[in-house]
This record gives sequence, structure tokens and C-alpha cells, in this order.
Amino acid sequence: MSDASSSARLVAVDGIPARDRRAPAPDDARQRRNRLTQAVKSWFGGRDDENMVPEANQPEPSTFQRVGAFLQQNLLEPTPPHYELVYGYILQTDRRLVDAVDRAIMREGLLTAEAAELILSEVRTDVSAEFLANLVDKAQAGLSEIAGLAKQSGADAQAYGQALESKVADLQGGAGEETVKALVQLTSSMIARTKQAEQQLRDAGKQMTQLRGSLAEARRIAESDALTGLANRRAFENKLRRAVLQARETGKPLALAFCDIDHFKVINDTHGHDVGDRILKFVAQRLASASGNNCFVARHGGEEFVMLFEGSNAEAAARIVNDVRADLQDRRLVAKQSGEAIGQVSFSAGVASLGPKDNGRQMLRTADQALYRAKREGRNRVVVLGE
Ligand code: GH3
Ligand code: MG
Ligand code: MG
Repeated sequence: MSDASSSARLVAVDGIPARDRRAPAPDDARQRRNRLTQAVKSWFGGRDDENMVPEANQPEPSTFQRVGAFLQQNLLEPTPPHYELVYGYILQTDRRLVDAVDRAIMREGLLTAEAAELILSEVRTDVSAEFLANLVDKAQAGLSEIAGLAKQSGADAQAYGQALESKVADLQGGAGEETVKALVQLTSSMIARTKQAEQQLRDAGKQMTQLRGSLAEARRIAESDALTGLANRRAFENKLRRAVLQARETGKPLALAFCDIDHFKVINDTHGHDVGDRILKFVAQRLASASGNNCFVARHGGEEFVMLFEGSNAEAAARIVNDVRADLQDRRLVAKQSGEAIGQVSFSAGVASLGPKDNGRQMLRTADQALYRAKREGRNRVVVLGE
């Protein structure tokens, strides 16, 4: 592993064209904001901020007006995605969306266009409940069709058996031509029905296979992070639940690392959001390089990642995380397209292991406290708590 910045490797990270990274001149920004405010006002009824407070004898503002007021207050352009987000926020259609917007407002004082885009991309990576419910309905319909076909085939076979029995009884008195004819007819009609049933079963089977593929794809989308391709928080939480149960059963250790890129906001502010995204992908890749060692890596949200180490205690996990950290700090990143130097990127990590009385949530909390300490002690380091 290289040890000094002079020997640092130059690593190109895909960048964005220079013009996109230019910050707007302050006057441009002000004029743009004024134009926006005017546009939003005229679109949503031209009410000023103060007027949005409902007066005693004024009707409650409609959802449409509330959406407009929200966009106006947050200087957001009234684009369809913003409208979709704010509408969801006001009607509280999705708790995670509401929490994410509240957090963004708390952090930055208002909902910025960047934060709105992030939240939307996170919410949209979720396969909608409606889509999944639709797939499950289809699967159920497919299953009942197959069950119906099987029942029908059984009933056909039974009817054939009964008819055959009565003809066999006739035969005991000598096989007349009529009886033989009837037998042949019965048999061939049974063969035709069986063939038809077979075809229907084959078709239904094909549909079920396709459906299984769609469900697997839906699950894959629902459990992966669109930007980095890592597992997302939902997948991580499922994995954590299973891993804790397994650790309890087998008595094997379990450890967790919470990693957070250092000063990421500065990277975004300096080089732009797109370069920020590239860095996120790059760090995700570096963390994933450790995923061989019985380690599950996921994006927990924003610039935070989690790593779950099955069969390792916190010390062993911390050594692996520290190797990734040291490797990353030795690199000097460069935006691929513009050639602009980004320099060193680092992350801090907090590591904890599953204590005898802990659940997954407690372990996560301890790792988060360790991360907080790593930040406080100067960043670009790994801190272990609770061994
Ligand atoms: P610290 O060292 O204390 O962690 O500082 P920080 O700047 O990394 O932390 P802070 O929480 O202040 O900022 C995190 C930033 O990460 C703010 C947010 O806009 C940005 N961010 C979150 N998700 C994404 C993303 O998907 N893409 C980009 N480009 N930026 C993101
Ligand atoms: Mg953070
Ligand atoms: Mg950070």
C-alpha cells in the first residue's frame, strides 16, 4: 500500500463538462429567483407568503395552493417532478418521503432542488406497492387457473372412468358393435381433452415462469441503490435481521461498520453534484471490494454506507475497513472529463459488534456513535466501540 501523497495514484473519476460546474453569477441567481417567484405566484394564484396563513374567515388553502406556496417558499421551479414530490409531502403519501424532506429542510433551511432530486430518486427506486400488488394478483390468478385445470382434468377422468365402467358392464353380456363404437368414442374424446389440458397447463406454466422472472426483477430493483448499484437500506435491514438471528443461533460473532464520506458537502459545492455522484460510485466500489470476506455492503443513504461482517468481531472488521480507508486516502482523484483535480477523498467509520443483549438496531446505534467519535477526532479514521 502506498504511504505518501507523492506516490499517490491518480485516479480518474468520470466528471462533467466544465460549463455545468460553473456557479451562476449572484445577479443571475437573484434575477432567476425573482422570475421564479413571479412565475410561481402567477401559476398558483399570486398570494404572498404572509397571505398563505389562513385568516379566520378565509377558506383553508387547497392542496394545489399549498403545493404552490411550498414551491414558492423553497424557490423550487414548478416542474412536474417537484410538483410530484411536494404533493406527496403535503398529502403525506409516503412516510420516508416526508421524513427525507423534513430532514433536508432541517439541514439546509429549505428544500433545495438538489435535495429534491435526491429524495425523488430514492423514492422512485422503490418499486411501487401497486406494481408489486399487481404482480402478486397475477401470480394468484395463475395459481388458481392451474388449480382449476387440475380439478377439471380430474373431473374429466372421473366421468370417463364412470362411462367406461357402464360400458364394461354392457360388455359382459357380449360386445355389441354399438358398445365398441361408444368405447372408441369415449377414449378418443378423453385423449383430446387430456391433450387440451396438457397444452393449457404448459401455457400456464410458461406464464408462471415469466411472472417469477418479473417478481425476481422487481425484488432486485426494490433492493438495490440506483446510483451505486449496491444493496440499498431496505435490503440491508432485511439482511441485518437475518444475520442477527443467525449469529444468535450459531453463536458466531457479527460486526457492523458505519462509513460516512468526509466533507462531502464541500466536494459537491466545489465540483458540482455530478462529480459528487461519481465520487459516491467510486467509494461504493472501493467498499464493495471488501465484500468477499463474508461482508455485505450497502448504501444506507446519502454519503453513508454500511458493512455487515458475519463471523467477524469488531476488531477484525475494523482492520478490513481500515485497509479500504487507507487505500482510498492514498488516491488522488481526477474528474475524467474535465481533468480537474479533486484530490483526496476520505471516509470515517464507526465499528461495533453484536453484544450478548444487543439487537441489530442497538448495534447500528453503537456503530453510529463510534462514527460520530471518528468525525470528532479528526475524520479519515476508524473507531471501534463496545468490544
Ligand atoms: P462530514 O464530514 O461531517 O460527514 O461532512 P459532510 O459534508 O460529508 O456531511 P453533510 O451531512 O453536511 O453533507 C452531506 C452531503 O451529501 C449533503 C448532501 O447534499 C450530499 N449528498 C447526499 N446524497 C447525495 C447524492 O446522492 N449525490 C450527491 N452528489 N450528493 C449527495
Ligand atoms: Mg452523513
Ligand atoms: Mg459525510
